[in-house]
Amino acid sequence: MATNNKITQLFNIEYPLIQAGMIWASGWKLASAVSNAGGLGIIGSGSMYPDVLREHIQKCKKATDKPFAVNVPMLYPEIDKIMEIIIEEDVKIVFTSAGNPKTWTKHLQEHGIKVVHVVSSVKFAMKSEEAGVDAVVAEGFEAGGHNGRDETTTFTLIPMVKEKISIPLIAAGGIATGRGMLAAMVLGADAVQVGSRFVATPEASSHKNFKEMVVKAKEGDTVLTLKELAPVRLLKNKFYEDVQNLYAKAPSKEELIELLGRARAKKGMFEGDLEEGELEIGQISGLIHDIKPAAEIVKEMISEFESAKKEVAQL
Ligand code: NDP
Ligand code: NDP
Repeated sequence: MATNNKITQLFNIEYPLIQAGMIWASGWKLASAVSNAGGLGIIGSGSMYPDVLREHIQKCKKATDKPFAVNVPMLYPEIDKIMEIIIEEDVKIVFTSAGNPKTWTKHLQEHGIKVVHVVSSVKFAMKSEEAGVDAVVAEGFEAGGHNGRDETTTFTLIPMVKEKISIPLIAAGGIATGRGMLAAMVLGADAVQVGSRFVATPEASSHKNFKEMVVKAKEGDTVLTLKELAPVRLLKNKFYEDVQNLYAKAPSKEELIELLGRARAKKGMFEGDLEEGELEIGQISGLIHDIKPAAEIVKEMISEFESAKKEVAQL
């Protein structure tokens, strides 16, 4: 692996491979496993009450002496407390998402923290650069969970963002293999962020039922829905059918909110209720066929990346 990569230098890691912050899946066990394997592990704070986040950061620091990050969705209700804990616990890297990058970037950087913002459009990538972030994650329509409204695919988003910004660029959405990683880097990314593939690991904190459903998922089994609220990509299940049945009645936004209710994501992904829960995963789940340790995934991806690079050079 080249040593002059902008992202490996920025984070002081071995490989330009980042594990996405994912609610109910990426606790300290997954984050530390990925960091120990040479990538960048991320604790997803969106599902954690402040004390739970502190516990996960402390356990992560004990489990690895390598860099790791915390992802903070800016919709989070007690964001001030989360940021305070991140600073107190001396976390070095923060990925913010779903909000305005201006709000926290300078404050975190003043405490010596590297800030990366996740976007799904060219416009917000430019706004993030203006806000002074250290790098941008551009996430395409293929991605699981919360998603952009414009349905821009990773294949088109990366070169369009690359054209407009000069800070380091991380590609996300639909990447689960070394070949996918190489493709994203050919399009202009300096690194990749991978979510779905790391859900199917023993280290992910999500429920076994959910992991097994991810492994069984085929092409076409996920869909982007609930655009009137926050667009989300999920596996088609009974809850999704209920959403579809409600859509057939041209519902108001309030009726959609009422059907969604509270803690659907926890019910599905953490408690393993495959019928009533919300099961967030990306389109690339159709290419995930087994549950295996995070370190093995990192190793295989990097090895496939290197061999694909040689193959492509022959073309
Ligand atoms: P952990 O260090 O993994 O968990 C510490 C605390 O964090 C616990 O309170 C746990 O909830 C919570 N937690 C773990 N991952 C997340 C996440 N991604 N988002 C929000 N909260 C999280 O060790 P434990 O020994 O407590 O638990 C081991 C694992 O067992 C858990 O990570 C979980 O995967 C699983 N588990 C699942 C349960 C469920 O399905 N309802 C219940 C208990 C354990 P909690 O106390 O609910 O585990
Ligand atoms: P809901 O409003 O349906 O429920 C809130 C959930 O978050 C509950 O399960 C609750 O756990 C948990 N939670 C953790 N910390 C807090 C807190 N401080 N106050 C209240 N609830 C808390 O929300 P969702 O489950 O849809 O989303 C939860 C969070 O995850 C949000 O912050 C959202 O922005 C983020 N998110 C991010 C995504 C991404 O892709 N980046 C995707 C989806 C959500 P409990 O049930 O134990 O009370």
